[in-house]
Amino acid sequence: MMIKKLGISSTWTVEDSSKLYQIEGWGEPYFSINADGHVTVSPQGDRGNSLDLYELVNDLQKQNIRFPVLIRFSDILADRLQRLNACFKTAINHYNYPNYYQGVYPIKCNQNRQIVESIVSQGKPYNFGLESGSKPELMIALATLDPYANSSENLPLIICNGYKDSTYIKTALLATRLGYQLIIVIEQLEDLYLTVKIGQELGIEPNLGIRVKLSSKGSGRWGNSTGDRAKFGLAIPQILTVIQYLKQKNSLHYLQLLHFHIGSQISSISVIKDAIREASQIYVQLAKVNPNMKYLDVGGGLGVDYDGSKTNFYASKNYNMQNYANDIVAEVKEVCEEANINAPILISESGRAITAHHSVVIFNVLHTNNVSTILPPLRGEQENLIIRNLWETYESINPNNYQEMYHDAIQFKEEAISLFNFGYLSLEERAKAEQLYWVCCQKIHEIVQHQDYVPDDLEELKKIMASIYYTNLSIFRSAPDSWAIDQLFPIMPIHRLNEEPTQRATLADLTCDSDGKIDQFIDLRNTKSVLELHPLQPLEMKTHNSLFGLNSSQNNIRLKTPYYLGMFLVGAYQEIMGNFHNLFGNLNRVDIIMNSKGYEIEHFVQGDTIAHVLNYVQYDANELIETIRQRTQQSVEAGKLTQEKSKELWRNYKKNLDSYTYLG
Ligand SMILES: *Cc1c(COP(=O)(O)O)cnc(C)c1O
Repeated sequence: MMIKKLGISSTWTVEDSSKLYQIEGWGEPYFSINADGHVTVSPQGDRGNSLDLYELVNDLQKQNIRFPVLIRFSDILADRLQRLNACFKTAINHYNYPNYYQGVYPIKCNQNRQIVESIVSQGKPYNFGLESGSKPELMIALATLDPYANSSENLPLIICNGYKDSTYIKTALLATRLGYQLIIVIEQLEDLYLTVKIGQELGIEPNLGIRVKLSSKGSGRWGNSTGDRAKFGLAIPQILTVIQYLKQKNSLHYLQLLHFHIGSQISSISVIKDAIREASQIYVQLAKVNPNMKYLDVGGGLGVDYDGSKTNFYASKNYNMQNYANDIVAEVKEVCEEANINAPILISESGRAITAHHSVVIFNVLHTNNVSTILPPLRGEQENLIIRNLWETYESINPNNYQEMYHDAIQFKEEAISLFNFGYLSLEERAKAEQLYWVCCQKIHEIVQHQDYVPDDLEELKKIMASIYYTNLSIFRSAPDSWAIDQLFPIMPIHRLNEEPTQRATLADLTCDSDGKIDQFIDLRNTKSVLELHPLQPLEMKTHNSLFGLNSSQNNIRLKTPYYLGMFLVGAYQEIMGNFHNLFGNLNRVDIIMNSKGYEIEHFVQGDTIAHVLNYVQYDANELIETIRQRTQQSVEAGKLTQEKSKELWRNYKKNLDSYTYLG
């Protein structure tokens, strides 16, 4: 005898939600759930005040800020930066490391002016610098870092990585005269020849670094940032060429830094350790021939636990920031001690770990499409055999035969479609067949949900039965990595968390692209194909039974209260890599900063208007308006449009151009 679990339990608590969405795993110490069932944000971690994210969203709505909105918490950014520096400090003290740590922020991770400026100003106590990977990023670095702002002897660093031409090198070399501690990293031999030549012409001695291709295997998505076929860096024989060349020119002292980068989001600490060990050995060998060596730059790769599982799964990492700092400090110290070489100043280039947590995208659900609300058709008198078969299947489903019945239902539905294609079924009959198929699936799904063991061939049913939640968002704009490389971001409702989420759903975005969806979600083990969500609360339940008993839930319904979802940890890479697919533009953005009374909006940056995105593709708003004016005029003259309607159309067209690209 099967004991039926009740669909909705009144005993659902916020703790259940907390467990379900893993918020402690990925959100600590910044995100949690309060007693009202709302997500709360503690931008200063465990130190400062917290705010109710749902209330903040309601405040924004009252101020007429349209959704989707990107919310940035400047205090989280500052907290991440402080943590990184504190972890290295702790490790250096703990291991008695005889030198110090001096990090740089890789600008490519998020080039937004407010972010780079905030990192530079918050980073002053740590002499935190910037890393540029391109000419435009170098322009940012030179203008943002102030070489005279620091009173201490150790200036913040500018590390110049990436491909370089002579203008890049010339600018970088001249800028050293502005007082910067600037290091040009040789990624190819060409960089070396060019830099030495331009340096001679300008009479400026360059500070050089070399990027080495380690043989230690990277791992995960960016695993091939290293190894023999890597796009970047010098192999050991090329490094020897660099040394010989510099020696010949009596310039070996230019070389001060060894750099490596084994890829982003390294999920396993053992991979990091192997790389550090190999790089440390190379460092001591270089230091033996060149006493001017003084920096070891370990690149990026410090991971973010997107799924909160604390494992070496690609969306997670099996170490924390302190473990990372400890392992770097301990390995380098040991190798240098053994070789009797002075330990280097340690540099890291962590981008993801500094920026990911500080942004969240809040978006609303527009409507849902739910096959579990389809009702059985009305019974007819003399029905086609195939319809009768489906009725019979539907009626005989029970816990002992559901697997067999599932296959029958699929087969009958397919037969019904071929009969239709050969002209033997009417449109009404085909509709009935489809409805019956869906109600069979519902009944079987209901049984399956209460079974401990689900046969493999029924796993698919879970996906088929999932609702589709249509969201006011473009994945391509706001979470490009979710589309491009199956990156997982934690997604959850920001309210109603004291209510059981009874729906199982995938998310669809606004674009007309079948890839514009999310159907992989974080889970404790691996991923899950559906996300638990709450049913929408329509203003009025439209219960009109249409001819075929189809529930009207796929119609646009007005919601009593909007249903808001948050996509978290999107501060790294997503903004700049997002694209304009279907011309959905940049989001409205609010930067929140905490104060003694609560919070304040530090900046509001308006998202793109339609006129703005059209401009990217060379349409001029004024020209468009003029064309439409002429068109309406012609239609009025042809008697197809009244003067009044023509004005309305023209006004509407103009209003659209000034509006947000998302749905209102
Ligand atoms: C992208 C990049 C980084 C940043 O890596 P994260 O994993 O985001 O910390 C650092 N250094 C170099 C050379 C890079 O290309």
